[in-house]
Amino acid sequence: MVSKETYSFNDRDTTMITLRPEFTAAMVRAIISGGFTQSMPIKWFSSGPLFRHERPQKGRYRQFHQINCEYFGPQEAGADAELILIAHKILRTLGVADDVTLEINSLGDPESRSNYRDALYAYLSQYKDELSEESQRRLEKNPLRILDSKNAGDKEICKNAPKMADYMNDASKERFEEVLSTLTALDIPYQINPNLVRGMDYYTHTVFEFTTEKLGSQGTVLAGGRYDRLSEIMGGAAIPAIGFAAGVERLAELTKYPEGFPFNDELIYLLPMGTESQKHMLGLMDTLTEEGFTVTMDYSGNVAKRMKKADKLHARIVIILGDDELQAKQCAIKDMLTGGGDKVPLDIDKIIDHCIAIMDTTAVEGE
Ligand code: ATP
Ligand code: MG
Repeated sequence: MVSKETYSFNDRDTTMITLRPEFTAAMVRAIISGGFTQSMPIKWFSSGPLFRHERPQKGRYRQFHQINCEYFGPQEAGADAELILIAHKILRTLGVADDVTLEINSLGDPESRSNYRDALYAYLSQYKDELSEESQRRLEKNPLRILDSKNAGDKEICKNAPKMADYMNDASKERFEEVLSTLTALDIPYQINPNLVRGMDYYTHTVFEFTTEKLGSQGTVLAGGRYDRLSEIMGGAAIPAIGFAAGVERLAELTKYPEGFPFNDELIYLLPMGTESQKHMLGLMDTLTEEGFTVTMDYSGNVAKRMKKADKLHARIVIILGDDELQAKQCAIKDMLTGGGDKVPLDIDKIIDHCIAIMDTTAVEGE
C-alpha cells in the first residue's frame, strides 16, 4: 500500500524484508492493533532513520531521517491549525521560520476529491502522449500525483489543469476557510498552492508543505496532511488523523549557522597551547560539558587561525591557556560577542561563574 520507492531485499534466510519508508503507516497500525482506538485524542511523535530506493542526490538519500508528528482523533479544522502551529514552532525554534514558506491546499472531502480526480483525468488524457513516462503511468492510477511532477513538460501541461477549488463542495470550502483564518489569527503566513497534492488517495482536506529556496531543487523540508481514510483502508475503525514529517538532513542543511541559532551562542571553544595546557583543557572540557555547556577544542596551530575557526563556529566564548597563563595559574577568557577578555584564575568554579556571567549578558541584551 505504500507506493514509495521501498527498499526491499531477501534476508539470508530468504525472508523478504522491506525497510520502513515512512512512519505514518506504522503509527496507524499501532493504533489499530494496540487497542488505542478508544483512547482518542492521541498525539504521537517519532523520529529515526528511513529508507527509500531513490536516485541519490543532494537532499535526497537512500537512508535519511525524519521527525514525525501524528494527531489522531479530532476532525475539526482547529486541529489542522494546531498541527501546523507545532510544525511552525519547530521551525521557529530552529531559527529557520523566515527561510521557509508555508504552502497549503485542500483536497476537499472524498466526494470533492473524486469529482476533481475525474475532471483532472479528462483534462490530462488529452495530453497523454506528451506527458513524461512516469506521469503516463500515473494517469490511470493516480492522476493527482501528476500535479506534483518535477518534469518541465508535465509542469507546463498542469498550468492549465482544472483547479481543485472549483470542485470543492460547500462544506469542504468552509472547512478550508476555517483552517486559513485560524492560521491568520495565529500569525502564521501561508500561500495557497492549488497544485499542492499528496500522492496517496487516503489524504483529504488540508495538505501543506514548508518549502525553501535555499536548498535548490529538494526544497521541501516538512510536509503533511490530513489522512482521515487511512485507518479504515488498513482495516481499522474510521479515525480522523493529520500528521507531518520533516526531513532532518534538509533541516540540518538549512540550520547551518543561521542568525539567532539558539545553541551555537553557548559554544565554548577551548584553545590550548602545548601538551601541559591540553591536559588542563581536557579536564576543563569534562567539567564544562558535565555542567551542560557545549564545548569544543582544537589541539594545535596558528592562534589567529584558530580564533577565526572559533568565530566561524559562532563560539560565544574562547578560553585560551598558554605557557604564560599556566605559569600564572590563569586562563584568558574571551567574549566573542563583545570582543572583551579577562584573565581568570585557573579554578574550575571561577571559570564556570565567568562563563555563566558572559552568557547571562546575552540573555539580558536579548530581551
Ligand atoms: P519529495 O517530494 O521531496 O520526494 P516526499 O513527498 O517523498 O518528498 P514525504 O514522504 O512526505 O516526502 O517526506 C517528508 C519529508 O522527508 C520531505 O519533505 C523531505 O524533507 C524528507 N525526505 C523525503 N524523502 C527523502 C530522501 N530520500 N532524502 C532526504 N530527505 C527526504
Ligand atoms: Mg519522495
